[in-house]
This record gives sequence, structure tokens and C-alpha cells, in this order.
Amino acid sequence: MARGMVQIDENRCKGCGLCVDACPPKILQLSTSRFNAIGYRPVEVIDVKSCTGCAVCAVMCPDVVFRVYRERKRSKQAAVPA
Ligand code: SF4
Ligand code: SF4
Repeated sequence: MARGMVQIDENRCKGCGLCVDACPPKILQLSTSRFNAIGYRPVEVIDVKSCTGCAVCAVMCPDVVFRVYRERKRSKQAAVPA
């Protein structure tokens, strides 16, 4: 299961490719078949299972396209004394 997930507001994307180059597992690409509402090829995720939730894409993007979700680790429950 993926450790992270990104939500993409694709109509804000200007297709600059900064996030594509920066994503450590290289799971982003600019669309090869679609244009967004402002005429750019929007970024898309090509391997959702490999997202780590690192948020490098969100840091790099000048247009606030990404919202990043990260899996939260479950805390161990304290043992209840008998
Ligand atoms: S959160 Fe990290 S792994 Fe996921 S798409 Fe963004 S840069 Fe790539
Ligand atoms: S950095 Fe932002 S604007 Fe540039 S391609 Fe990625 S999502 Fe689009």
C-alpha cells in the first residue's frame, strides 16, 4: 500500500515540469494526451502505489497544485495492567 497520496488541482498546473524532475520515486509526468482548462499539459501520477508522501512536489510547485496526504503510523496501545 502507498505511504502517501497526492491530490492534484490540475487546472492550476502550468506544465513547467519542476515537480516531475523533483519527485524522488519519479512517479509524475506531464500528460501526453490531455490539456487542462488553461491550455497546459497537466501533471499526472503514473504510479500511485509508489507515492511516499514526501511532499517534495508540493514544495517545488510554484502554483500550489498539490495537496499531499501521508499515512499516519498507528501508535501502540499501552498494555493495561491486570
Ligand atoms: S509526495 Fe513525494 S513521492 Fe508523492 S508524488 Fe509528491 S514528490 Fe512524488
Ligand atoms: S511544478 Fe506545479 S505547475 Fe509545474 S508541472 Fe508540476 S504541478 Fe504543474
